[in-house]
Amino acid sequence: MLQQTTVGAVVPYYAEWLKLFPDLEALARAPLRKVLRAWQGLGYYQRARNLHAAAKIFVREHGGEVPSDQQTLLGVPGFGPYTTAAVLSLAFNQPYPALDANVRRVMMRIMGIHGEADGRPDKNILERLYDEIPPGSPGDFNQALMELGALICRSRNPLCLLCPVQHACRAYDDGEQEIIPKPKKRSYRHITAVVGIIEREGRILIQQRPPAGLLAGLWEFPGGKVKRGESREKALAREIKEELGAEVSQAKFLIQVDHSYTQFRVDLHAFACRIKGDVEEKAGRQKWVALKDLRKYPFPSGSVKIIHFLEKYF
Ligand code: SF4
Repeated sequence: MLQQTTVGAVVPYYAEWLKLFPDLEALARAPLRKVLRAWQGLGYYQRARNLHAAAKIFVREHGGEVPSDQQTLLGVPGFGPYTTAAVLSLAFNQPYPALDANVRRVMMRIMGIHGEADGRPDKNILERLYDEIPPGSPGDFNQALMELGALICRSRNPLCLLCPVQHACRAYDDGEQEIIPKPKKRSYRHITAVVGIIEREGRILIQQRPPAGLLAGLWEFPGGKVKRGESREKALAREIKEELGAEVSQAKFLIQVDHSYTQFRVDLHAFACRIKGDVEEKAGRQKWVALKDLRKYPFPSGSVKIIHFLEKYF
């Protein structure tokens, strides 16, 4: 949960998560929908899918225990070099350095490595960390470096005067502590999309996204991207025709919400929509659901904002 997310944001989710899934068996047994629903609001849903898949593997192949072997862990979904090193050092006292963005920044400054914080200097940093990590307390060492990065050697305005490793820091000696590393450049795509809130006998039509790819397995209202030069109403009619095979007979604008995901920002326009003819639930991927039950389904955060609006005004 803490990957790419702050402790403050995670704490309430973590407490709730442990109530729902108190051990690996409970998580492994749970349907994916329940797992994604518990994750709703944290974003980066692939982490939830990986945790669920990993719990199943641990229960099925390792007697319900997390294995303590590096090669085994590296083969488990969600266990890249960082997570594997963090688990092995913190839970099993094994001397593996955990190199996350905070640690990378601290080490680039200590070692005086210039350039972008995009993972290129990792080889040199890891060599140094393997030299320095104390065999008796590798977990403390890793956590201390993470905390140093989070609280003292911050991305902007590092608190060098309070820093316990100032004496060993090249960047401080060279007066370059604020210059390096350059933050990694991010390019955000911007998407305008439309969705139809189609209601029938007190139920609203929702559909599930494919099991792989963007926002995989989450639920959404039917709709899609607005093409260049297309009006929102036209885009809505086209998407509903493509997705449901139905004609839109009336569309009334309800609300616009914005949301930023990992790689893009969406500006989502919701319309109360009437359609001609009927829409059947297709192979479990489309459902008519009462407004009060929408929250039982995991939706992307942008759609959750629309659900808030519907709960308030419908
Ligand atoms: S002295 Fe400053 S730049 Fe160097 S590690 Fe400490 S906080 Fe970071």
